[in-house]
Amino acid sequence: MIDSESGTPYLYERYWLQHPEAEFRLLPSDNIGYLDFPGPVLPRLEAAIIRLHAQVGNAITEGRRIVVGVGSAEVLMASMWVQAGAAMKSSTSNGPVQVYSQPPYYSAYPEVATALGSRDFTWTNMSSNDLSSAQQDVVEFACSPNNPDGALQNQTIAGSRVIHDHAYYWPHYTPIMHPVDYGPQDIAVFTLSKLTGHASSRIGWAVVGDPALADGMQQYVNWHGNIPLESQARAATLLEHVIGSQGGIFSYGRVEMQRRWTLLSDLAAGQQRFTFQSRQAAFDHWSGRTEMATPPYLWIRCNQERDADCAMTLQQAGITPRDGQKFGASAQYARLSLLMRQMDFDKMALKLERLMMG
Ligand code: PMP
Repeated sequence: MIDSESGTPYLYERYWLQHPEAEFRLLPSDNIGYLDFPGPVLPRLEAAIIRLHAQVGNAITEGRRIVVGVGSAEVLMASMWVQAGAAMKSSTSNGPVQVYSQPPYYSAYPEVATALGSRDFTWTNMSSNDLSSAQQDVVEFACSPNNPDGALQNQTIAGSRVIHDHAYYWPHYTPIMHPVDYGPQDIAVFTLSKLTGHASSRIGWAVVGDPALADGMQQYVNWHGNIPLESQARAATLLEHVIGSQGGIFSYGRVEMQRRWTLLSDLAAGQQRFTFQSRQAAFDHWSGRTEMATPPYLWIRCNQERDADCAMTLQQAGITPRDGQKFGASAQYARLSLLMRQMDFDKMALKLERLMMG
């Protein structure tokens, strides 16, 4: 079986094996004391985040606050909490704030919306049209490029408070068309996990315009404990490496992702069993060239008559997918991660090919 269910980014293992200079050592004195620096974040880490956004050109950080959390999972939770609080404050209705994301959405959003067990906000499966006309107070997750289908997403409900999830807005997955630059109501979220691959170091951050929202998020993070210095120092060292190498990891990731997508596109041509998502090319300000998007996931629509349960078809062929229903879509859809090691990807592509030719 090939595990294509989780998005664990083993793709980057080879790059880091080739770059031992990005390893780091802490001195005993670094660890002694309770995170003894001014402010909630290691200053080196905050500085590296700001410099990297400026170098890549994917987010404006001037006049914004950076809030760091234990993975973007925690940052999304903190964002949810402050956005729901702000929506309630300005609300004219008595009901709970509705939490919405346009399907297909990242499968963790319903979990984020329900994990705190709050009666003040609730996950909704209403359509965006119904929500707009009901004049509900809405917190909206907009993931761009989107997990699972790679689409560029923005707010879909006028007046909603938006959490923009930019986990994949980096040059190995998409052309960088412009720096994100939202108004003070919105929050933009990023993560180390899909940028360098260091998902287990658990570092994510938000770019926040409104200081009151940033304070609320920081409070949420503080309640859950400080972020271990090891993780902060590790992340700072990695980001400094990315900056110093002029984005070597992006070039590495992009070349390999392009190879994978070329192979997949060739497989898709001339068969009717599976349809893959379409991809767009755009001018990429990071490289100064027009580039094709190379999303981290393959979003498959199975031919209904032949494979009504798309996930089961893949599973039986030796590939473990994530069922489309987890993303608010139907069983006709399934998601495959493309971020595995090269050898595993090649094995998966072979299994897919057999299935498509069969
Ligand atoms: N957002 C999106 C869209 C993701 O795909 C993921 C990871 N699969 C996350 C957030 C969470 O990442 P982490 O908690 O590792 O930062």
